[in-house]
Amino acid sequence: LVRAEGVHKSFGDLQVLKGIDLDVADGEVLCLLGPSGSGKSTFLRCINHLEQISRGRIWVGDQVIGYEPRGGKLHELDERSVARQRQSVGMVFQRFNLFPHLTALENVIEGPVQVKRETKATAVARAEGLLARVGLADKRDAYPRQLSGGQQQRVAIARALAMEPSLLLFDEPTSALDPELVGEVLEVMKDLAKSGLTMIVVTHEIGFAREVADRVAFMDAGAIVEIGAPGAVLDHPEHPRTRAFLQRVL
Ligand code: ATP
Ligand code: MG
Repeated sequence: LVRAEGVHKSFGDLQVLKGIDLDVADGEVLCLLGPSGSGKSTFLRCINHLEQISRGRIWVGDQVIGYEPRGGKLHELDERSVARQRQSVGMVFQRFNLFPHLTALENVIEGPVQVKRETKATAVARAEGLLARVGLADKRDAYPRQLSGGQQQRVAIARALAMEPSLLLFDEPTSALDPELVGEVLEVMKDLAKSGLTMIVVTHEIGFAREVADRVAFMDAGAIVEIGAPGAVLDHPEHPRTRAFLQRVL
């Protein structure tokens, strides 16, 4: 479903991604680990075209991110088309980024109604199902400030799902949460993984990676230095950088 080929990204003179090659299969859950500053967030943002890559190519399904084929050639997309393309990729951030002046339900229907031009009735029906799925059916009319961090993050997940993405990106979705709230968010993510959603998850939750990921990739200094089954990468890392990192976080 996702293919990255030779992805490079620089900010000015700073080379952040130095040739990322990655394939993620339909229905696969890939956990991405790595030290701070290794480029994990930047890579996710490139997949979602929140950053434009400097070199290389990224496909999601049959779409080339940022481009469209026309007359046998690839043409750069304008803003509108980028926004349309982005609809197939959901993203959940460390900070929940909910609209503070909208209720949980209103947050979830906002995208479908404003961007996809769905009728409110259709969007509300799906949103209610999604809030139930993340265990928040009874919080539909609550505002973000009335919700715990874990509940807010679950609303954010429901909001991402409301756009019916083919791929969901998570950037440290539990890092900003109090420890006792981490579990409820991971449970929801586990449930999504089981349902066959394709997910790329940047996380420091090694237990989650071990249990839920199909593969784990370790990123260091802008490159994927090791990738494989969780048991292999987490328990028998081959690369010295992976070993050093795991010794620190475990
Ligand atoms: P963390 O674990 O701390 O979230 P990360 O692996 O997600 O780290 P990135 O956020 O991708 O790392 O950052 C990689 C490098 O790119 C860092 O050196 C960062 O300072 C730099 N960087 C990221 N975004 C920008 C930007 N918009 N402009 C300039 N430099 C940036
Ligand atoms: Mg990051």
